[in-house]
Amino acid sequence: MTPETHESLLGYIKRRSDAEGFPEAGGFLTMLGQSYGRAMVEEAERLAEDLDIDLATLEPILPSAQSKDPALDWSFHRMHRDPVCPSCIAACQPRRKEWRHAMVSACAEHGCQLIDECPGCGGPLTLLGDGYAGCLCGAHYGDANAVPASSLETEFSRMIAGRSAKLAGVELCADDGLHNARTVWFLSANMAKARTGKEGKSIYPKTVTEARAWLKPVEALLLDWPTAFDDHVVQRWNAPGAEGMTAAMRLGAWYRGLLRQKGALAKALLSRCLIVVSTVCGDAYKTNRHKDGSTWVSAAQAGDILGIRSERVVEAVRDGTMIGSQGRSGTGHLHTIVRMQDVEEVHELRARSGTKEKVRSILGVSRKQFQLMDEAKFFGDECRMPPHPCVDGVFDLENIRNILDRIRQGPRDDNADPAGLVSFRKINLRRTTDRTAVLKIYRLIANRELRALKFAQDDSLGDALFSEAEISRLLQEQGGARAWTAGEIAGFSGWKPECVTGWCEQGLLQATRGKRGSFNVWQISEEALSRFRQEFQVVSDLAKEGKTTSRKLLASLADRGISSVGSQPVGTSSRGHLIRTGDIARMIAFPPT
Ligand SMILES: [Zn+2]
Ligand SMILES: [Zn+2]
Repeated sequence: MTPETHESLLGYIKRRSDAEGFPEAGGFLTMLGQSYGRAMVEEAERLAEDLDIDLATLEPILPSAQSKDPALDWSFHRMHRDPVCPSCIAACQPRRKEWRHAMVSACAEHGCQLIDECPGCGGPLTLLGDGYAGCLCGAHYGDANAVPASSLETEFSRMIAGRSAKLAGVELCADDGLHNARTVWFLSANMAKARTGKEGKSIYPKTVTEARAWLKPVEALLLDWPTAFDDHVVQRWNAPGAEGMTAAMRLGAWYRGLLRQKGALAKALLSRCLIVVSTVCGDAYKTNRHKDGSTWVSAAQAGDILGIRSERVVEAVRDGTMIGSQGRSGTGHLHTIVRMQDVEEVHELRARSGTKEKVRSILGVSRKQFQLMDEAKFFGDECRMPPHPCVDGVFDLENIRNILDRIRQGPRDDNADPAGLVSFRKINLRRTTDRTAVLKIYRLIANRELRALKFAQDDSLGDALFSEAEISRLLQEQGGARAWTAGEIAGFSGWKPECVTGWCEQGLLQATRGKRGSFNVWQISEEALSRFRQEFQVVSDLAKEGKTTSRKLLASLADRGISSVGSQPVGTSSRGHLIRTGDIARMIAFPPT
């Protein structure tokens, strides 16, 4: 048994539960070791396996936080009831996935109200307390009366179902159903605030009756278009306490909220709102309709819409980035006007653009590391936007987030030993002096040839964890010649750090001055270290190998006319003595007689 087109996951589970002979879906899920909720839908592979179907078969009906299908939008997923359409059940059609959306109260197919109470016993139709067609009391949902739903209920349900729907005078297409649903929710939630005067986060409707009550107040706004919406805007404009002469000032939070909405419905509402505002606002903001039919607004109004100073709009017109023209207001004041469609375009650009600082905070990396990433061309040209006087920053945040999402996907190792992991943030020039190697590693990560072992959804790139061993290996093989600081050489040779530094300062050990992080360090190449070991013998090493003391060795060498180099005084003594290998060789070849 496989899911039907448009079937809800829960509906499918109920059909399966019936087939297995369970009176209610809860028992079937328990048998599978599953419980209905976010964890279940997020572990899709496990669920598919438990249901014994392909992941590809499950995915089209799987509710998820990432789904583009409004019917599967997890943030609106019903968690209290599992309503049905009596006509669908009577016709043995699948329980439809849009019924799972918290704002849906009608059947997109039959235009009748969904029921979420049993026609027999009156009990609630809970998520898991029944089978496909009927209640435990014996009642069949198909026997319930099919009550016609309101126009908005049906249009909304059609919209969530991905069918053609018409709201606010616009034929909505399925592509941005997710956005359109949220816009309706936004409108409705703000009507509720207007009713109760309560601010704060609204809670999604739990029952079909509540969903219907949420839709009711926005029915006229969306269907009696544009009259009711115009009245609504005027009402808000004239509300007690409304001040100022622009939409942003007078309509306040509601207007800003509307600006944040995306999709065709929001676009229609916003441009209608501005037309109304320009009309009530009087001459100064009067909308100009030109021959080409486009709507023009003043630079001041455009600035309000965009939340920027109007000078920036004027500047954009002056440098040719935006099409504009000079208009004269009722008072004779000359002002710049721009096309509304261009303002909307800029609005979208602004929504997806960001400054370097913004990108850094998304990535969770330092200024220095970001520079290096830039040098490595971590983000390609598609992450840059042409500069625009009305837009802050030239980075395309949407594309950057897409790239990060791609990097985030892929094989991960949840059991990786934390000790063997290094965060992206630490793969920088503090770790190695080899710039080329770091750039190369960044490229590998950007190209997804080097994968993070841990990169959770909420982690920034800086937090992503990579295999320490893999990074070390890459640093060695990519870099070619290795280099160390004086401290590192002291670490593996057993020489005192101040001795190594002293040899560097005296030019005996060839080194260059460099920086690691904010520290000044000596950097010694592999080749320089090798040459040093050929040229000099460290007296303390000789003493150790010969089980004697440096003092005795130095005295004996001095007797033969050989003096040390490279030492530094320490208190009354000195350390860091070197003997030239050549002196030792000559001493052996030409022993004193
Ligand atoms: Zn139906
Ligand atoms: Zn019942």
